[in-house]
Amino acid sequence: HADTAMYRAKETGKARCVVYNHQKFTAPEHDVSMEAAMFQGVRDGEFLMHYQPIVDARTRQIVGFEALMRWVRAGQGMVSPAQFIPMAESNGLINLLGAWALKAACVQVRRFEEAAGRPLYISVNVSPRQFRNDQFIDILDEAMRLSGLAGQQLLLEITEGILMSDPEHAESVLHAMASRDVRIAIDDFGTGYSSLAYLKRFPIATLKIDRAFIKDLPTSVKDAAICNVVLSLASHLNLTTVAEGVENEAQLNFLAAQGCGMIQGYLTGRPLMPEDAMELLKSGQPMALDAVAMK
Ligand code: C2E
Ligand code: MG
Ligand code: MG
Ligand code: MG
Repeated sequence: HADTAMYRAKETGKARCVVYNHQKFTAPEHDVSMEAAMFQGVRDGEFLMHYQPIVDARTRQIVGFEALMRWVRAGQGMVSPAQFIPMAESNGLINLLGAWALKAACVQVRRFEEAAGRPLYISVNVSPRQFRNDQFIDILDEAMRLSGLAGQQLLLEITEGILMSDPEHAESVLHAMASRDVRIAIDDFGTGYSSLAYLKRFPIATLKIDRAFIKDLPTSVKDAAICNVVLSLASHLNLTTVAEGVENEAQLNFLAAQGCGMIQGYLTGRPLMPEDAMELLKSGQPMALDAVAMK
């Protein structure tokens, strides 16, 4: 294993002095090789953004995109953010990667708008460590200045835990965002602490219903009930809603009938390379065609 990794590193011509040892291969929770590769990957430009369409549940028009990070690791191909985001969060690289992602996404959505000929929004994930970073608001300002994007067109996705761990700090950051007209979404809604108190306290604009509650719709009676109640809650609180992980028509129809505003999932489009998203928007297709989406 170690030899293979070393060989790969040489092959790409990108090796510096990465020291491989055997232990890391038996202890994936301390994956030093992955960590070293990540730092190298940042230096070598292996990180990029993909964009997944978010579609109006009723008209099926694309209204925005979620920016999703990808790592094309030398010699290994695409690594899932589920793997590298937690590592970036623990070693601090997320601050660098996240700042870059925010800027890239804000600039990219302006190009998308040009291709589409109408306003679109961009949704960007913000991790706990980024949110706690003192420089975050400066980074946000820089991204908006660079791109010229209006605040209303930017949605920042945070998780419930961020709000619960340090509510005073969260409040001040959220108000700084609100004063820039930047909107906040609760990502993976329903899977965290699920306290409703923060919906009262903080200026939240959007709930993103986690895929866990979507995947067995419409047959699962429990999931149907949960979605129903969340959508009703959102409607009474004047929050917009996005259902995550919508993969088939039956789910879409159920959600649209229950008043869900927007949907996001493989049904209407996979996360796309920017060029493919541009092509899709120029084509004027109401939803991503599989031909484009699966490329
Ligand atoms: P998330 O924010 O909940 O993003 C939605 C995830 O669901 C994405 O996974 C997306 O590819 C996937 N997805 C979308 N539609 C479907 C579907 O129909 N079926 C299924 N099975 N999955 C679907 P992805 O891209 O692997 O990202 C995983 C997580 O990594 C994200 O979850 C997000 O929390 C995190 N992440 C991704 N990019 C960034 C980033 O730029 N910054 C930060 N801080 N976190 C990121
Ligand atoms: Mg998200
Ligand atoms: Mg997320
Ligand atoms: Mg989510």
